[in-house]
Amino acid sequence: MSTNQIAIDGPAGAGKSTIARMVADRLGFIYIDTGAMYRTAALYLLREGVDPSDEKASAAAVSLADIQLVNENGNQKVLLNGEDVTGKIRTQEIGDAASLASRYGAVRRKLTALQREIAAKGNVVMDGRDIGTTVLPDAQLKIYLTADASVRAKRRYDQLAERGETGLSLSEIEEEIRARDRQDMERKNSPLKRAEDAVLVDSSNLTIGEVRDRILDAYRRSAGGDRRDS
Ligand code: C5P
Repeated sequence: MSTNQIAIDGPAGAGKSTIARMVADRLGFIYIDTGAMYRTAALYLLREGVDPSDEKASAAAVSLADIQLVNENGNQKVLLNGEDVTGKIRTQEIGDAASLASRYGAVRRKLTALQREIAAKGNVVMDGRDIGTTVLPDAQLKIYLTADASVRAKRRYDQLAERGETGLSLSEIEEEIRARDRQDMERKNSPLKRAEDAVLVDSSNLTIGEVRDRILDAYRRSAGGDRRDS
């Protein structure tokens, strides 16, 4: 393996993207948000009027979508058929559609191939659901980042409240998070699970800085880790 790879998997709302970005910044690696790719595929389905519960139609449609991740001045952008859709994929509707469409083997194969191509080109911190188990099984460090569903719901609730979005109660958000967990963990293709060799980090009682430092420590300890950073 010629590039360095850190895989961070875990359920929705565990803080993967925040942490993965911080670790990537610290190490000078590229951060790859694979959830953004599934969300972009879902956006394409919704735009094309395809029902993400329909496997055949979803697989056929996604095979035609050109999805690219590009890095501009350290910021990741996602392009759908050349259009920058980065600001359009962070809705509940798209997240739910992504969770449905990500069950299909054909959709996963296409996005997995893209993710591996990116990882072959440079050092990456990649986050998602199946990075350590399927996309990068030889990653030099695998992290399974989780937190209690009630803690993840509270963090999400606070985030929404900060943005003035107070539509859902705390218990409704927790129910949504549990439903998403079930769907991602119980699907047949690449379900979310901890890789045998992944380091478990439970962020329920940790600050973001503490989680970041645990992952950086684990990276330095990992065989072949870049010790110049210590
Ligand atoms: O991480 P995020 O919430 O943006 O991901 C949206 C959905 O995409 C997840 O609920 C999951 O179903 C799917 N996903 C996946 N495999 C990945 C990343 C995301 O199945 N590697």
